[in-house]
Amino acid sequence: MSEAKTCLFDVPGCAALRRTLRCDPEQFRRVRNALLKTFASDAVATAEFIGRDRLAIHALTLEQRHESAVDGATKLLLRTGQGLLTETVVLRIASGRCTVCVSSQVGCAAACQFCATGTMGIARSLSTAEILDQVLQAGQILAEQGRRLRNVVFMGMGEPFHNEANVHAAVDRLLDPAGFHLSPSKILVSTVGVIDAMLRFAERFPRVGLALSLHSVEPDTRRKLIPLAKKNPLPELRRTIAELNRIQGRGVMLEYLMLQDVNDSDEDADALVAWTEGLDVHINVIPYNPIDDAPHLQATPRTRVDAFAARLRDAGRKTTRRHSLGRDIEAACGQLVKRSNLRPR
Ligand code: SF4
Repeated sequence: MSEAKTCLFDVPGCAALRRTLRCDPEQFRRVRNALLKTFASDAVATAEFIGRDRLAIHALTLEQRHESAVDGATKLLLRTGQGLLTETVVLRIASGRCTVCVSSQVGCAAACQFCATGTMGIARSLSTAEILDQVLQAGQILAEQGRRLRNVVFMGMGEPFHNEANVHAAVDRLLDPAGFHLSPSKILVSTVGVIDAMLRFAERFPRVGLALSLHSVEPDTRRKLIPLAKKNPLPELRRTIAELNRIQGRGVMLEYLMLQDVNDSDEDADALVAWTEGLDVHINVIPYNPIDDAPHLQATPRTRVDAFAARLRDAGRKTTRRHSLGRDIEAACGQLVKRSNLRPR
């Protein structure tokens, strides 16, 4: 009978394996650094490691890889040990900065109207190892191409703060000098606004970025788009951002999806300016990728997106327009997983 393997991300397990193998700690450190810091291939990293047959490097199996024909995005469909699919997006931005967008759950209970993942319901939260393996696999793909992974964003499937303990543990490991050793400024966690969890996160990781999916400052509109807004109302969210500014000493990113005739008028822009008065925020205006499940939601035309962003800038708000990558590989989070799950395996 073959012996059970030890997960690379199981720190006490790896220490026990090292003792069992009577392996030189330096040899083990080299394997770990080759994988997590330089994203070497599995074969190269473990070539001289006596315990390579006892180490499980990956927590997820790469099932499909979709390359965008029009820009630098790659979407990975990854399968968990229980056979569930999740997805990860590798973004190669023209400036050369490479980012991985990781999932924290399979499906999502938040049920946001504009999101394909939200229409799937929740299957389960991903483990810390499953979150970290997305970073490792993305880093290895980029390293093969001579590129370097720079940023990790939690903007894939799932609400990160519905999987709080595992997301905290994953961020710990991303920052850890003995782990991936990323700078906190290179990590961004995006939430639809789970107030208590945002504050806990900021206390624990004061230098890691937080993004809030805001999308509207009109209470009824926001509640329709994001059912969780009922539990986390706008006045409290506003006070929370002020508190995050105080704790972190840095700005909060506000994500604003542009939906035609829903939240994209000049009045909406003015309301957003008024709502953000006195807050340290950076507004990211995001073009919408329509999904089949929400035929009533359409993308705001490009000229209106630009006019909306200009109005925010003219009022003194730091504003950028996000360029959506990977449209041709179904960039809307969850679309690809949904489709694959419908096909018989
Ligand atoms: S937008 Fe995020 S929080 Fe909302 S349903 Fe989709 S994955 Fe969940």
